[in-house]
Amino acid sequence: MKTAFFKGKFVPFKQAKIGIMTHAFNYGTAVFEGIRGYWNKNKKQLYILKMREHFERLERSAISLDIKIKYSLEELDDIAVELARRNGYKEDIYIRPLAYKSEEKIGLGLTGIKDDFCAFVAPFGLYLDISKGIRVCVSSWRRIPLESLPLGAKITGAYVNSSLAKAEAVEKKYDEAILLAPKGTVAEGSGENIFIVKGGKLITPPLTEIILPGITRLTLIELAEEELGLETIERHVNLPELYEADELFLCGTGAQISPVVYVEKHKIADGKVGKITKKLQQIYFSAVKGENLKYLSWLTPVY
Ligand code: PMP
Repeated sequence: MKTAFFKGKFVPFKQAKIGIMTHAFNYGTAVFEGIRGYWNKNKKQLYILKMREHFERLERSAISLDIKIKYSLEELDDIAVELARRNGYKEDIYIRPLAYKSEEKIGLGLTGIKDDFCAFVAPFGLYLDISKGIRVCVSSWRRIPLESLPLGAKITGAYVNSSLAKAEAVEKKYDEAILLAPKGTVAEGSGENIFIVKGGKLITPPLTEIILPGITRLTLIELAEEELGLETIERHVNLPELYEADELFLCGTGAQISPVVYVEKHKIADGKVGKITKKLQQIYFSAVKGENLKYLSWLTPVY
C-alpha cells in the first residue's frame, strides 16, 4: 500500500490528510523540497540523488519561517530512504518532504505557531522534454523581489508566483516560462534555473537575482568544469542574450536538463539541441543513475 510519513509515523497515504484550518494551507507557511530517485535497471537499485543537500536546504528554508524541524539531518535521510523503500518503486521517483505550520489557528504570524514535518513519494518520469528541446515564453509576471521574501528559501506560498508563470506559459501554448527579476534581468524558469552556452563558456544568473539556489545548478557547474573543462560565469543576464545564445537550457531536479530551442519567436542557434547541452545530459544521467563510479557519493541506495 502507498505510504506517507505524517505526524511522526509511516501511515497509509490516504490517512495523510490535513485539516482545512491548517495555518500552512491558509497562509502558504510551509517549506518544501523535491528530491529525485533514479532507478538503475542493471543494478536493480534506486538511488536518491543529493539527498543531504536537499535536507540542508530544507533546514535553511525552515529557519526563514521559524519552523523547527524536530529531526536531525541523519533522521531526515533515514525517513526518506525508509519512505522510498516502503513504497517499493522500481522506477524513477520524486520525494516531497514538507515542513509546515501545522496548527489549526486563524491569524498571521510565525512565532509560537506549531509546526510539523511530512513527506510523500510518487513515481516521476519526465517533467519537461529533454530530447528535442522545449519552447519557452517570457512571463509577464516578475520574480518576487529580494526585499519581499527570504532569499533562497523554498516556501510554498512563493510558488504562487511560479504557478502564475507556468499557467501563462501553458495558456500561450509554451512548455515553460522564464521569469525576469524585478529590474528586468533574467532570473530563472518557473521551477528551474537557466544556463546559456556562449563562446565555449556557461553563463548563469547569480543568486542575487532571487533565483532558488538550485542543487542541479551547482551539480552542472561542477560537472561542466570537471568533465568538460568548461568554466561557468555567474553574472546578470539580459533578455536579448538568450536570443543570441549558442545553446540554452533549463535545469532542476524535476526538469533535469531541458534544452530550450525557442524563446517565443526567437529560434536558439539552429533550433536543435546543442552539443554541449547533449554532452552535459549524458554526463549527468550517467552520474545520477549510478553508472559513473566517480559520482557514487552523490547517491543513496534505497534497497
Ligand atoms: N528554481 C525554482 C523556482 C525551483 O522551484 C527549482 C526546483 N526546486 C529550481 C530552481 C531548481 O532547483 P533544484 O536544482 O535544486 O531542483
